[in-house]
Amino acid sequence: MQPQEALPLGIAAQVPLAPLTTLGIGGPARFFARVEREEHIPALMAWAEQQAMPVFVLGGGSNLLVADRGYDGLVLAIALRGIHGEAEAVTAAAGEPWDAFVERCVARDWAGIECLSGIPGTVGGTPVQNVGAYGQEVAETIVAVRAWDRERREFVELDRTASRFGYRASLFNRDQPGRFIVTAVRFRLQPGGAPALRYAELQRRFASAARPSLRGVREAVREIRRGKAMLIEPDQAESHSAGSFFKNPIVTEAQAEAVAARAGESPPRFATPEGVKLPAAWLIERAGFPRGYRPPAPGGGAGRVGLSSRHALAIVNYGGASAAEVAALARRIRDAVAACFGIPLAPEPVWLGFDPGEQL
Ligand SMILES: Cc1cc2nc3c(=O)[nH]c(=O)nc-3n(C[C@H](O)[C@H](O)[C@H](O)COP(=O)(O)OP(=O)(O)OC[C@H]3O[C@@H](n4cnc5c(N)ncnc54)[C@H](O)[C@@H]3O)c2cc1C
Repeated sequence: MQPQEALPLGIAAQVPLAPLTTLGIGGPARFFARVEREEHIPALMAWAEQQAMPVFVLGGGSNLLVADRGYDGLVLAIALRGIHGEAEAVTAAAGEPWDAFVERCVARDWAGIECLSGIPGTVGGTPVQNVGAYGQEVAETIVAVRAWDRERREFVELDRTASRFGYRASLFNRDQPGRFIVTAVRFRLQPGGAPALRYAELQRRFASAARPSLRGVREAVREIRRGKAMLIEPDQAESHSAGSFFKNPIVTEAQAEAVAARAGESPPRFATPEGVKLPAAWLIERAGFPRGYRPPAPGGGAGRVGLSSRHALAIVNYGGASAAEVAALARRIRDAVAACFGIPLAPEPVWLGFDPGEQL
């Protein structure tokens, strides 16, 4: 299209993406539109198809690393709002902030997502990587995901089976990445249900409580997250991250034994249906990257990118860092863990605007 041509459908050009991400890094989107109504999606997608333009769907930008050069396509920022229904069939629009939705459900005494308190981002982002924390996964309570199917060019409803949830995985990010634009999610929560106390630290905290409340568990989870710099708060020094930068690897028994032999100590292990889950943070620290690790800037002085002082799994933008610096540190960490333990770490955030060769 010609540069002077007016843009239709509320589309804007050269919109900076860094402020729309929790890392606060990255260049502009060539084209950008806020989606406030579901029915605008077909026309925006048709426009992009006419221009043969790639499309990226943005939620809260909390699981995203945007390249310094930005994104040469159309970014659709999902700003759909609205919550309706009751506990056993409550539907939230994809652009609702996730933690406010959790807060609302906990206040109504609806159990099922209380341990997912404090996760940033939008409701629509949660099924994509099947968010999980402190013994709970969002897939446990999702009944259906409503989405625009870019292939069939129609709105569809996918149930839990069709969504193919796994560990930090689903149809939406693993099997058919980019095909579906999530517009709403329906949950089945339990009115008056007991909180999930599966995580050891939560069990310890509530060991003497006769009947722990959902509110109490939500507050405890937020407090634990705060201690690990995994809660985004306005005054928090280390809040410019994408949360965990690597997934916890799932390995075989033999691999876990080999890790223990090389480390000279046994890693914490969590049994999962797919295998033994090892904490990536444990591997990273023992591969030579302690909490607070911050390589000096090339010209001297404190570097702009490093690990959180409270959690080795979070790569933090300490101010003015570039995506290239984040990628370089992530690569060093991945290579060191592979060299020490023979375990390949996979990044958790989505990489946008990078060439395939630049990605981890
Ligand atoms: C401090 C911190 C703590 C975190 N803690 C956790 C945690 O405990 N557990 C956990 O699992 N994650 C955690 N995360 C990661 C992140 O918050 C979640 O993955 C979140 O669900 C991402 O949602 P988002 O709306 O920000 O998505 P974005 O970052 O905007 O996008 C991430 C991916 O989802 C896709 N996407 C987003 N919205 C839609 C939509 N409506 N339709 C289709 N695709 C969409 C994007 O295209 C992209 O591929 C944390 C992140 C931070 C910064």
